[in-house]
Amino acid sequence: MLTYTYISHGKFALMEKPKPQIIEPTDAIVRVTLSSICTSDLHIKHGSVPRAVPGITVGHEMVGVVDEVGTGISTLKPGDRVTVNVETYCGECFFCKNGFVNNCTNPDGGWALGCRIDGGQAEYVRVPLAQNGLNKIPDNVTDEQALFVGDVLATGYWAADISEISADDTVLIIGAGPTGICTLECVRLKNPKRIIVCEKSPERRKFVLDNYHEVLVVTPENCENFVKENSDHNGADRVLEVAGGTDTFQLAWQCARPNAIVTVVALYDEPQTLPLPQMYGKNLTFKTGGVDGCHCEEILDLISAGKIDTTKLITHCFELKDIEEAYRIFENKEDGVIKVAVRN
Ligand SMILES: [Zn+2]
Ligand SMILES: [Zn+2]
Repeated sequence: MLTYTYISHGKFALMEKPKPQIIEPTDAIVRVTLSSICTSDLHIKHGSVPRAVPGITVGHEMVGVVDEVGTGISTLKPGDRVTVNVETYCGECFFCKNGFVNNCTNPDGGWALGCRIDGGQAEYVRVPLAQNGLNKIPDNVTDEQALFVGDVLATGYWAADISEISADDTVLIIGAGPTGICTLECVRLKNPKRIIVCEKSPERRKFVLDNYHEVLVVTPENCENFVKENSDHNGADRVLEVAGGTDTFQLAWQCARPNAIVTVVALYDEPQTLPLPQMYGKNLTFKTGGVDGCHCEEILDLISAGKIDTTKLITHCFELKDIEEAYRIFENKEDGVIKVAVRN
């Protein structure tokens, strides 16, 4: 079968591999119908995910149809349409029992697919611990609507959730890339008093203004003053940093009011510095990524009910054989791209 594979630092390539087989009774094989490219794939390519294993098929955002299940799987059968979760998790260890599935202690736990084991930019994928890692897609939800459930949308949902947002809050979201927009979709469900989105790209600012009429939009240069003028307590009550730059990391704490919660969703390429003397007395609470991706069923229900819609993020679609062109456009942010769908 055709796969897109991590060869070495800076190099991915299309190559043929055997179709995956069931190894453990808790595995399932999924025929991938639609996958996507995530910024984390680019982080693998550029060497900022040291645990990524050369030779693995990349891709951890996908939907498909169950092709085969192991003898230990009772809740799924061949033919079921499913979302594939970015994280595999056992459901039994200390971390899983507390909902912290990103830190599942199982050898296959956490972000394995498309990082430590073969992922989904391929025709088929083997999903370990499939009873937890696959969710059935409701009949009224399309593959396009479900495509981001297991990864970027799971991240947005989790980020909105841990930020403890209430009805009186002014929420600042920094970054309107794919994860930023998914975060915005989920923050809206908390009905805060105000949402402000900070984004440097004029194209992406326009996308937010066109699609989310209740949201205020600002550039990074004007962000701090704008947030102070448009909040009740001289700063945002909740800040969600999704952009991942050194400048935006600083902006996050600068725009927060005293005693605010700052949720750092972004994955940085480099260490960041908190200037603690300057921040002293601001008494901020920081929460950091990555996603505990175990709310896919709730997210699918919200999509089914029409409360979340991320199909507008899919600006481009390619066949798997043309995935190199898809990567080129996504990586260079050409042609107004937000997300690319890759069809089998
Ligand atoms: Zn991802
Ligand atoms: Zn676990």
